[in-house]
Amino acid sequence: MFSTLSDRLTSTFKNLRTKGRLSEADIDATVREIRRALLDADVAVPVVREFTASVRERALSAEVSGALNPAQQVVKIVNDELVGILGGESRSLNLAKTPPTVIMLAGLQGAGKTTLAGKLALDLKGRGHTPILVAADLQRPNAVTQLQVVGERAGVPVHAPHPGNQGAETDEVVGDPVGVARDGVATARAREHDVVIVDTAGRLGVDELLMQQAADIREAISPDEVLFVIDAMIGQDAVTTAQAFLEGVDFTGVVLSKLDGDARGGAALSVAKVTGRPILFASTGEKLTEFEAFHPDRMASRILD
Ligand code: GDP
Repeated sequence: MFSTLSDRLTSTFKNLRTKGRLSEADIDATVREIRRALLDADVAVPVVREFTASVRERALSAEVSGALNPAQQVVKIVNDELVGILGGESRSLNLAKTPPTVIMLAGLQGAGKTTLAGKLALDLKGRGHTPILVAADLQRPNAVTQLQVVGERAGVPVHAPHPGNQGAETDEVVGDPVGVARDGVATARAREHDVVIVDTAGRLGVDELLMQQAADIREAISPDEVLFVIDAMIGQDAVTTAQAFLEGVDFTGVVLSKLDGDARGGAALSVAKVTGRPILFASTGEKLTEFEAFHPDRMASRILD
């Protein structure tokens, strides 16, 4: 995902290696290159501005250990700042003290919510949990069937309305997604599943009706986690989309999907900083096993490797 950014930053640092001491002009030139590399990777402009200002200030005050040479000092500063914009500490899933833990998924259509539902269920099942999936996306034709297929592949049950929306795409709200979500959670409780994962509808663009629907579902099921799933390849749109979901539904954590893509990945580097919500997981392929916990420090090292 970050190969271009990674190459650009590495070559910037290489130029510093021959220098015994860094002048203010050297630091400014380096910061300029970092700024260009981040902007070309589609990182949001305000994030880039803050990032580079902080790197410049810290590099000028050279507060890091004297044991490092100037190039290493700059790498360390950039690494720390990258970890910072990626959210700092990693955070794991917040499990309810009294089961079931209710997890709601939100995001644009095609972001990877349904796939993630299966990945999360499979992962939790592997760790001894007993998840159930709830098909509350009644909007997209075949979304219910798709979740049933994913559930079968993961070997977990799916609570689905009967019948699902098999019709064409429509601007009207289809069926009673709030009722389905509520029933799904009640079913989980009755059958003693300890985690419920609720898939919800999303549009191709931010849409008020569906945003309200997601907010209503949230209100009805009081989830322990609302995970906002975002396609890491959507570039500069990431920030406006994330902000719209933050205002419209609010979420407790972010999942970056399609991190296996070769696009520029600015979404990944902007969304935690812009929303103040941690990135919990990364989705790295279409297979249900292509999924991992997100660690800001490991991601930063990968970029700077
Ligand atoms: P939803 O509309 O948000 O439920 O999105 P889906 O789960 O249906 O995913 C949309 C498309 O993206 C599907 O073709 C998935 O197979 C694909 N997809 C989902 N996650 C990933 C991922 O991490 N990497 C890749 N390459 N494709 C993914």
